[in-house]
Amino acid sequence: MTKKIKISKAITIGDNFIVIAGPCSVESYEQTSIIAKKVKKSGATILRGGAFKPRTSPDDFQGLGIEGLKILRDVGMEENMPVISEILSEYDVAMFDQYVDIIQVGARNMQNYSLLKALGKAKKPILLKRGMGATVNEWVKASDYIIKYGNPNVILCERGIRTFETETRYTLDISSVLTAKRYTNLPIIIDPSHAAGSYELVEGLSLASLGIGANGLMIEVHNNPKEALSDGKQSLTPKRFNDVMIKINKLNSCLDKDR
Ligand code: PEP
Ligand code: MN
Repeated sequence: MTKKIKISKAITIGDNFIVIAGPCSVESYEQTSIIAKKVKKSGATILRGGAFKPRTSPDDFQGLGIEGLKILRDVGMEENMPVISEILSEYDVAMFDQYVDIIQVGARNMQNYSLLKALGKAKKPILLKRGMGATVNEWVKASDYIIKYGNPNVILCERGIRTFETETRYTLDISSVLTAKRYTNLPIIIDPSHAAGSYELVEGLSLASLGIGANGLMIEVHNNPKEALSDGKQSLTPKRFNDVMIKINKLNSCLDKDR
């Protein structure tokens, strides 16, 4: 039985299939608000938005920091959507507890054991992304750190691993939804956006994720992908996101709920 993690009165992860959507980065109040309204209308129930960004180059946009978290929280409250954002530092746990409903650990920090231990003391559920070079077993063991240090509410997120393939940004290891279950009953969601690296692949990977039995999706959406400050190439427009959601709902209605 998959562990159920309550996010708000209305939303539980590990129960019905859920969709988290929003921009890679919070860029402004206006941008976040426009995107939140659109994704909510299409059926997303949790809003994502990075404020502390782990960018490859220090010259790239690093996020709005605490201002970004405040914008995300404000928009989430206005739209009645719980919010999720990525934490980079173990010293920021109290701040994230204050501003977000789910704390995201990114792929680059999956094996940052001092961060994982500190998140054992967090009050909010943790979404733990799989490291791009981590085995399923290492990923689940990383979740054990958070649990052992006091926080049982962990959601796993597959986001692709690095392989020799260069057609995609990463290779989505869809089978990990099943193989992780050899070790854990934590809910597992899939982030097709970071695996794909380009928006055209997101629909197919999303439907495959639902088909294989993932508990949900996290999808990047931007109102103007060409101008996005990060990950524009893989971001869906609100219209494309809506099209994906229609197909997800159609497929979901055909599937047996107790798979
Ligand atoms: C993100 O979700 O914006 C992100 C940086 O993801 P990942 O850690 O999977 O690269
Ligand atoms: Mn991103």
